[in-house]
Amino acid sequence: MKETLEELKEYLEKIAKYNRVIILLNWDMETCTPKLGFDKQADAIGYFSAEAFRLSTSDKLEKLLEQLSEKEEYDSLDETWKFIVKRMKRDLDKDKRIPADFYESYVREQAVSGNAWREAKNKSDFSIFAPHLEKLIEMTKEKTGYTDPDKEVYDALLDQYEEGMNSEIIDGLFEELKKELIPLVQKIIQAKQPDDSKFKGYYDPDDQKKVQKLLLEYIGFSFDAGAVGETEHPFTTNFSSKDVRVTNHYYEQDAISAMFSAIHEGGHAIFEQHVKEEFDETVAGSCCYMGIHESQSRFYENILGRNKNFWVPVYDKVVSLLPQLQNISLDEFYREINHVRNSFIRCDADELTYCFHIILRYEMEKAIFRDHVPVEELPKLWNEKMQEYLQITPKNDAEGILQDMHWSDGSFGYFPSYLLGSIYDGMFLEKISEELGDIDTILKEGRIQEITKWLNENIHQYGSTRTPQEVIHEVCGKEVSAKPLIRYFKEKYEKLYELV
Ligand code: ZN
Repeated sequence: MKETLEELKEYLEKIAKYNRVIILLNWDMETCTPKLGFDKQADAIGYFSAEAFRLSTSDKLEKLLEQLSEKEEYDSLDETWKFIVKRMKRDLDKDKRIPADFYESYVREQAVSGNAWREAKNKSDFSIFAPHLEKLIEMTKEKTGYTDPDKEVYDALLDQYEEGMNSEIIDGLFEELKKELIPLVQKIIQAKQPDDSKFKGYYDPDDQKKVQKLLLEYIGFSFDAGAVGETEHPFTTNFSSKDVRVTNHYYEQDAISAMFSAIHEGGHAIFEQHVKEEFDETVAGSCCYMGIHESQSRFYENILGRNKNFWVPVYDKVVSLLPQLQNISLDEFYREINHVRNSFIRCDADELTYCFHIILRYEMEKAIFRDHVPVEELPKLWNEKMQEYLQITPKNDAEGILQDMHWSDGSFGYFPSYLLGSIYDGMFLEKISEELGDIDTILKEGRIQEITKWLNENIHQYGSTRTPQEVIHEVCGKEVSAKPLIRYFKEKYEKLYELV
């Protein structure tokens, strides 16, 4: 009995080594590979990905999992291994249905399409990307036909990123947000806006890196189990809970962007650094639910980072590292980091109008997969929705439909995760306040580590072993609801913009 489990563990260690190579190559390509070195690195990633896929769908693995699923063997496993065996068996059953030659051409198309998207974005020419987008949409439909034959395509895609989610639940949540937030944002836009002219200036990237280190340490990121790199689009990646890496991008004219990217990615990283060590490099480890993951990064970025009290213990230190902020009071800084504007780019949006950027993308994806809107009509639909939600029209596709990379590698159904994360945050905030007390006081007194500890204990340590719905039920004891987030927004912004 023991032998089968030992054999499985050995086999998983082998797969884990392939995954390490893939993660390392990706990290390298995103942070430091020179332009001329790109092709060979991409080749190597293709090779190791195909090998890892072959190992994780092999007959040998299938046989091991079947043996361990037999009652007597299964009953002798501890809870962690019960979870791992069950989860791996489910994934393998799904993946095995994908024909190997289809999988290979899908991976190849992802790479080709990514290149086409970059070129299209640089030239602001949607027609360069359109044929690849069309092909990826078709291949995505075919792929979900293999993996989830009983599910409607878009629901299958949503479920891939946030298990248990479907468009019926999301429709309900997003409609409620729209109903409450559209009038709120309209009132804010008409109200008196903060003066941002004092923030203009040159901010040395090296100084910004020092601020980043200060902020990451302040929120609880461990540099013994983490590293920082520089990239075009910030992201977090991890080998295990002992090696979690964040990246950032530094703008010379804007110091605030990198501060909040650091806090956001730091939130993802703190999550991964606190997953139970025994789950490392198995399906129980690194959290695979994107809504839950984004809830943690966005909790640090928005709920904590955009709270004035978050800055009380560190603002002076930030100013000493960035003397350009010397004449800016904490109050002025606080107003600026919560400056609500109708803007084109999702990544630069404030936390309130950000909701509309996601709702727009969700509706676009439904138009693609439900209403079968032809690809060439998508830019027009995008611009109409920008007008509807934000009353602005992009002057070209680069600042419109081409701005995000998600669709270029077939990540359809990912976008709603960001807003689901914020919806969960509203609920977590209420629960934390109930259990730990007033969050403003905790932050002001420099006790942020108490909040991090609460998140570690209630959410992070479980990694992937609880589905999003289980997390919400067990942490909050309630059904998912957008109401707490709406209450948070109203309370904060009515005061900030003196609306009442
Ligand atoms: Zn994120």
